[in-house]
Amino acid sequence: MFQGVSPCFTKVNYFLNYSFLIKGALVTTKKQKLGNVGEQLVASKVDCPGCKKTGKSLRTLPTNFVCVDVICDFCGYLAQIKTKTVSDADRLPKQVPGAAWAPQSERMEAGIFFPLFLVLVETVGNKRSIWYLPPDLQTREMFTPRKPLRSTARRAGWQGYDIKLDRALAYPTRIL
Ligand SMILES: [Zn+2]
Repeated sequence: MFQGVSPCFTKVNYFLNYSFLIKGALVTTKKQKLGNVGEQLVASKVDCPGCKKTGKSLRTLPTNFVCVDVICDFCGYLAQIKTKTVSDADRLPKQVPGAAWAPQSERMEAGIFFPLFLVLVETVGNKRSIWYLPPDLQTREMFTPRKPLRSTARRAGWQGYDIKLDRALAYPTRIL
């Protein structure tokens, strides 16, 4: 279903330590594709939690909107979507990867938290699930910064974060 890197090519890539640039570019493309799958799924299946408008009013935002992925075209409700591949879409993982730490950290400093949708996509099989965590159940402790990327990395110094779901005030609610 996902046009990932073929296992053969991946192996060659790793064993020859081929090129950081090529490897990085492929990974990004794969990640973006996965992210798009999650965003499309939320937009097509979820009613806006803000205005409860049925008729699918959530629209995906262009990738240059930092930290927000969908907007309701009726009430302006904004939400973040994280998509993760899993072996079992019925089981919520303990953590999911976030994005760039700097804007997330800055927003938390200002007391801003966005509603969060998690989309789980099975690597084998077709099952997908959607989970929802409203901002009032989120904590600062659940967003944990990773180490900045090493100087040899393509995006040296870039720092990401993880979302530890067991540190929220409650587990996300399954909505699909
Ligand atoms: Zn709305």
